[in-house]
Amino acid sequence: MKQLTAFAFLLFIGISANAQDIKNNPGSNHGNRFEQLGTILPTPNEYRTASGAPGPKYWQQRCDYDITCELDEANRRLIGRETITYVNNSPDVLTYLWMQLDENEHSNTNNSGYQSGNSPMPKTITEADITRFSGKVDKDREYGDNVTRVADATGKALQYTINKTMMRVELPQPLKPGQQFIFKVDWNYNIIERTKYGGRGGFENFPEDGNDLYTMTQWYPRLCVYSDFQGWQNHQFVGSGEFALTFGNFKVAMTVPADHIVMATGQGQNYAQVLSPAELARWQKAQTATEPMEIVTLDEATVKEKTKSTQKKTWIFKADMVRDFAWGSSRKFIWDAMPTMVEGKKVMCMSAYGKEAYALYRKFSTKAVAHTIKSYSKFTIPFPYPVAQSLEAANGMEYPMICFNFGRCEKDANGGYSANSTYSEGTKNGMLGVVIHEVGHNFFPMIINSDERQWTWMDEGLNSFVEYLTEELWDNKYPVGKGPAYKIVDYMKLPKDMLEPIMTNSENIIQFGPNAYSKPSTGLNILRETIMGRETFDYAFKEYARRWAFKHPTPADLFRTMEDASAEDLDWFWRGWFYGTEPCDISLDTVKWAVLNTEAPAAPANNGPSTRKVPVAKPLLNSFDDISKVRNREDKKIVFATDADPSLRDFYWRYDRDLAKVDTTAFEVAVPAAAADNYSEAERFKIGGDKNMYELTFSNKGGLVMPIIIEWTFKDGSKEIDRIPVQVWRKNENKVVKTFLKNKEVVSIKLDPMRETADINTDNNTWPAIATPSKFQLFKNGGGRGGPRGAAGGGNPMQKEIK
Ligand SMILES: [Zn+2]
Repeated sequence: MKQLTAFAFLLFIGISANAQDIKNNPGSNHGNRFEQLGTILPTPNEYRTASGAPGPKYWQQRCDYDITCELDEANRRLIGRETITYVNNSPDVLTYLWMQLDENEHSNTNNSGYQSGNSPMPKTITEADITRFSGKVDKDREYGDNVTRVADATGKALQYTINKTMMRVELPQPLKPGQQFIFKVDWNYNIIERTKYGGRGGFENFPEDGNDLYTMTQWYPRLCVYSDFQGWQNHQFVGSGEFALTFGNFKVAMTVPADHIVMATGQGQNYAQVLSPAELARWQKAQTATEPMEIVTLDEATVKEKTKSTQKKTWIFKADMVRDFAWGSSRKFIWDAMPTMVEGKKVMCMSAYGKEAYALYRKFSTKAVAHTIKSYSKFTIPFPYPVAQSLEAANGMEYPMICFNFGRCEKDANGGYSANSTYSEGTKNGMLGVVIHEVGHNFFPMIINSDERQWTWMDEGLNSFVEYLTEELWDNKYPVGKGPAYKIVDYMKLPKDMLEPIMTNSENIIQFGPNAYSKPSTGLNILRETIMGRETFDYAFKEYARRWAFKHPTPADLFRTMEDASAEDLDWFWRGWFYGTEPCDISLDTVKWAVLNTEAPAAPANNGPSTRKVPVAKPLLNSFDDISKVRNREDKKIVFATDADPSLRDFYWRYDRDLAKVDTTAFEVAVPAAAADNYSEAERFKIGGDKNMYELTFSNKGGLVMPIIIEWTFKDGSKEIDRIPVQVWRKNENKVVKTFLKNKEVVSIKLDPMRETADINTDNNTWPAIATPSKFQLFKNGGGRGGPRGAAGGGNPMQKEIK
């Protein structure tokens, strides 16, 4: 999921252990931050090994669905029936099954009933506020699942109990290990207006043409996960914490108005029956297309919008080894498709969108889908499914092989939309980002199937990280968000009561975006660029993906695998970054400089501290560039998508973007004389005549330990970087004193010059200290709507330029 609507949040005490508070050696300056996680991690067993891999007796349940349903467009209602085959692969005897009724999120009576602890009385009140304060979703219409039948394979009724968003089905006989149970559920519900009431699925109405766009998600009663690590995952669905789902095969038949186009998880089975002859011919031609090809064109969709068919058609889809099934349906859909090869296997990349998104989606969407699955396949496992799709629905939400994204254009001068419709740069970058993000969710958590209800970060954080890598490979100048360390600094600076560890239950998080998306993503990027190195990190991360593809990993499986496959003890990092909230603030406190005294051995009187002035250096200009972008640029093996395919360059694409400039100032230092020695002057000069010794003292002001990265600038203007591993803090977690030998005279020192460690205070990172003024921003014309990722200015200069 990408966009966060205003969800209720709860202020419980975090259920996870806060490792920074569990001191191994209380009161001491060492023996704490570098100690092993020990009992903070669950004890390894035969299901999950100490190496972080699935154990010899690993098991997971399986659940197959055969679903038929009808979309009643006139009443905006969904009527469905399903036959479920549940296979008990666990060593346990089960007496009941738990199912998820997510639509009850919108029920006035069966919702989870949890209340927000922060709803002050507004000064002005709307009708929606009145409905909300009355505790209802909608005063005029009832929502939520209406379960009309639960029966076994022979049709005999089964007992069931609904507890808010969960339904327990009693098994007529205990289900033994290795046995399967087949049963049927019939249900229906009123489809919610998603754009008005929120939620991941529902309909959006377009008043201008009177049509709906349906995104059907969490729409059928689904099995909960039963696992070795927590039994039934039947925590109520509140809105934030997403889903824990069981793998299986799906066959789904959807009856919809005959003029709708249906896009769904899996492969269409009966296109010959549901497509027009022209559409079918294009679909067949698209199988070998090298550019996205329209199956349904802009003109055809625009014509269809004007009438509503009273006929119906049934679309049939199949999908194997997926944890969920979602679909979209509308007569507004334009549909394009193009195959791409992923490690020798063909994947149909497709997009569907209304005319409002045409100019953006037609140009970028399907190619971004192809780029995403290829890029993720490099960093994780080869994309295993035959289809990957992006649908425009003004949101951001993921399902296997299909996702819903945003990005619409401005109206043309004639009030309509066309291939030449314009958009702001923020909208374009937002659209690319959301497509990459949501398609990327195919890997996390659709394939590497973590429990999202417990750990939002395991899907959003890991996915945001590979999204970031993929955005950079699209265009190294893409204004990435969730990855570079310096971008998390504002969050790390927040007061303690605003922060919670990443290891916090999804429903207890208040800083949802930074905590579950950016901070874990940034942490992985710091491991990759600064702590482990790209090669070591990539191998271990890929191993995690390989081990846990089509399985249910937990955080410990990730932490253990990353160490097991790399020979890096990272417990200090998991402890500080994932279990703790402390920021990094390394301060360069003092610098002592000594040069060799090449004069004859001095009398004791001359041996005391004397000083000499160092010539004042010219002001230096340091350019600051993100380390990932620099390394990407220098790695000649990398070909960026916008370089490989010039058709991806639009109005906003520019080869060069300015780098931020950081200024340093000139200074003077005093120099103590060197001590006397017993060498001859010539010997002394030969050994140490050009040597400068620098003793640097660092203190850990933030708490979080990090490597110390030192940039030396020499008198001749050249620079050198020393990277001191984090373990330098082992024996004293508060203070480090370290001496360096340099052949050239140093004029300035700067810690973390490329801002890799998320150090929250850069004022104490330089020598001589630089006074940094606070900044104000100046806009020529009022601000603009550059969007959250808008790189350059706001507004839509494309509209002004392209007439
Ligand atoms: Zn997401």
